[in-house]
Amino acid sequence: MINIDPVSQRETHRQIARIVRGLPTSDGAGVKLTRVIGQPALDMLDPFLMLDEFRSDSGSDYIAGFPEHPHRGFETVTYMLAGRMRHGDNQGNSGLLTPGSVQWMTAGRGIVHSEMPEQEDGLMQGFQLWVNLPAKDKMTTPRYQDIAPERIPEVSLAPGVKARIIVGEQAGVRGPVDNVATDPLYLDVHLDAGASSEIAIPAGHNGFIYVYEGRATVGESASGDLVRGDLGVLSAGGEKVCIAAPIPTRAIVVAGRPLNEPVAKYGPFVMNTQQQIIQAVEDFRAGRF
Ligand code: MN
Repeated sequence: MINIDPVSQRETHRQIARIVRGLPTSDGAGVKLTRVIGQPALDMLDPFLMLDEFRSDSGSDYIAGFPEHPHRGFETVTYMLAGRMRHGDNQGNSGLLTPGSVQWMTAGRGIVHSEMPEQEDGLMQGFQLWVNLPAKDKMTTPRYQDIAPERIPEVSLAPGVKARIIVGEQAGVRGPVDNVATDPLYLDVHLDAGASSEIAIPAGHNGFIYVYEGRATVGESASGDLVRGDLGVLSAGGEKVCIAAPIPTRAIVVAGRPLNEPVAKYGPFVMNTQQQIIQAVEDFRAGRF
């Protein structure tokens, strides 16, 4: 059917193209988590390779943590909502991720690090997102952007709607993370019951909305109803998306410029060719990270 209404939202606004449910799994030394991107239902959403949600108030679900392991060729983004995670790497860098903080780690040519809970019980909650690097940056020097909670600006988007801006721009305010190759947007949006807002999404970016608390209607059709644990993939085209919540709701809104490059993946190594993967494994085994 052809839409002949020139001012229709469908011309300018993103909709929900499909809804994906996360897969309960475990990783690291046995941390229970939900894999939302990087699983059979959604292998990747260029440039996003993986999205894990971790949320448990039982220490046995997370205490084993993520002991020493390598990364090469992409970026890992950890956003903590609750709990404390200690980070340390083979270059001598170390830091503590506290509630509301973000670590944007550009692994580049390679790091070996550990991510271990610094608590034995109580709620541990947050996300880890993997963002791909373009071929020209895969072997770049590793870089950390450790962002304390108070450095993340919170803006009002509409009555009853607030957004923390981790990276990208919204309502004329820029988030603190900078110089990311895929020019991403990463918002943590909080809506009061009955509130609604438009959110600006850069044209040409792939994007998604993941509801981690409450319930939201995204776009203008019932196919955009997201409950807690639903990831809605945004349709292409348009520079805005409408979100409304009948009850208090929290969601992350993430978008990035697709790289449209070949992806060769092997565990914590994400390169462009199989030969580069073999090289990564050799370099790691030889202690060259
Ligand atoms: Mn890691």
